[in-house]
Amino acid sequence: MTSRVPSAWLKVAGTGALAGSLALGASTPALATDSAPTGPKNIIVLIGDGMGYNHIDATSLYQHGTTNHQVAVDPAAGTVEHVPGTPSQVFQSFPVQVAMSTHSANGRAEYDPTKAWADFTWIAEGATDSAAAGTALATGVKTNNGILGVDPAGNVVKNVAERAAELDKATGVVTSVPFNHATPAAWGAHNASRNDSTGISTEMIDGPLDVIMGAGHPGYDDDHQPRDSDYSLISESDFQRLQDGQTARTFIEDRADFEALATTEGGPTQVFGLAQVANTLQQGRSGDSEGQLPFAVAQNDVPSLETMTKGALNALEQDEDGLFLMVEGGAIDWTGHANETTRNIEETVDFNASVEAVVEWVETESSWDETLVIVTADHETGYLDGSSSDPTWTPITGDKGQLPDQKWFSGNHTNQLVPLFAKGVGSDLLGSYAVGSDPVRGAYLDNVDVARVAFESWGREDAPEQEGIEIQANVPEIGEAEGNLTLTVADGVVALDGGKNIGDRLRFLGQLPTVSVTDSRSNAVAGTGGWTVSGQATDLSSQGQTIRAQHLGWTPSTAAAKPGVTLGSPVRTVMGEGTGLGAPATLATASTEGRLGTTDLGAEIGLEVPVDTRAGEYTGALSVSLFPVD
Ligand SMILES: [Zn+2]
Repeated sequence: MTSRVPSAWLKVAGTGALAGSLALGASTPALATDSAPTGPKNIIVLIGDGMGYNHIDATSLYQHGTTNHQVAVDPAAGTVEHVPGTPSQVFQSFPVQVAMSTHSANGRAEYDPTKAWADFTWIAEGATDSAAAGTALATGVKTNNGILGVDPAGNVVKNVAERAAELDKATGVVTSVPFNHATPAAWGAHNASRNDSTGISTEMIDGPLDVIMGAGHPGYDDDHQPRDSDYSLISESDFQRLQDGQTARTFIEDRADFEALATTEGGPTQVFGLAQVANTLQQGRSGDSEGQLPFAVAQNDVPSLETMTKGALNALEQDEDGLFLMVEGGAIDWTGHANETTRNIEETVDFNASVEAVVEWVETESSWDETLVIVTADHETGYLDGSSSDPTWTPITGDKGQLPDQKWFSGNHTNQLVPLFAKGVGSDLLGSYAVGSDPVRGAYLDNVDVARVAFESWGREDAPEQEGIEIQANVPEIGEAEGNLTLTVADGVVALDGGKNIGDRLRFLGQLPTVSVTDSRSNAVAGTGGWTVSGQATDLSSQGQTIRAQHLGWTPSTAAAKPGVTLGSPVRTVMGEGTGLGAPATLATASTEGRLGTTDLGAEIGLEVPVDTRAGEYTGALSVSLFPVD
């Protein structure tokens, strides 16, 4: 206690407790499978940059002679629908397989299923870039094209890797294009311009990522040949301090060093791996591959994305708190821009092998009970489709070991839905966000949902101090003060009703019982101070199933406004991009002018949950606390 403050003042505090309960009834479908109450220890996100459904199928035709995502058009009936296929990639057996929309904050439009399948050209324009898409995937916030880790208003937004680092997990990014390119940079930088390459490099080098691997070497060209140093992607001083061991990370660049890391457990835990190529591991190498079979043109003698992925896992797995890893098949996008069929298959083969490496790591070094693996794309590139498509859609066809019969209808990104595959703890929750419905691709979620699931599991901030949220009465000590400051709460529970479906979530509303503050303290006791009332909710639970307190929000109100009494700001739920009532929130404050007498306060309480939240009777508690303030 502070000696300057009358002791009675500090002791004069009251706490009231409200039992809250709600029933999620018939309107909420139960989830099909159990999900563990705790979130994933490890999250691994693999992003095929520009990898649409048809990129996957084109490569599956080459690798396995199968397709799984083709569409059938019936001109007579005017129908377009997904036709059953044959899963052949490891991720095509994952339990969660949904589609994902990718539009940016300033793109043309949200994905529109009707227009997308009515007009062949509709999806060809207005697409996101990789900076906005990477930001959405990494932070859960939509931003404008060209921007990394910053919202359209210019605010820096936290990404999932940063949150993982706050939780003492090991974090890393791996890519087949420059390490500071848009997609990996979305997990390692905050910059209003994706084109500030050297600035982004500095931020990533000085940031918390334990492992950074990719292309972008100043001393080598795209053929892995030495060149006069080019410091356009990384400054000379940054490159020197990496090479000289002036950062915490072990610097490697030789293929042999990458392979040693990939095959040896217990090596360095922090690594900067800069493959000896300029822009891509393989896609930019010389030699005309088109018309030839994949890998017919000799490859650069540099590590593959698969090797880098294995090395990153060996480095990161040594952290007992868990890991976050993002693996990007970045050059898939570049083959799409260039309409390169052969090299698109090469890049996607390496990406598929990287997914297989991750699955093997989960099944040998971890488990699906503690790890969430997500395989997706940031957008489609090249409008790849069957060769007879436009004005309608025709299937891509082909045979194992051969180039598929296909055609590119764009040199840019498109607004198509992209696939998302997920397996492991938390994958059900991710799947539950897929509330959009596409006539061909089925249920779809939005790219911000990937980060939302991570933040739901890991929180956005460290938990507030646990003292003071205990629900208990703390009655003023009578006689110590001249007059009292007390809090009473009207009887009753917060009954949340409704379950109104507002598109991507269910919203329940209820009223906080009247909270009355009575202040009869003399000015000698209260001084120039007033009081503040705050509230905080516990998680709601039902038979082992938990709805986190961040899903609760409120809008403070008062029956009779009083001068000197200021209501707290409305608190939005986590699904409304707010922080929810998991942390203390102000219901009202009174200044010295407004403190005296009785002040009745209320609030509209809102609960917002994914539409597929498991049915059940959830109960929790909301504690309301009164504090004298100076
Ligand atoms: Zn691109």
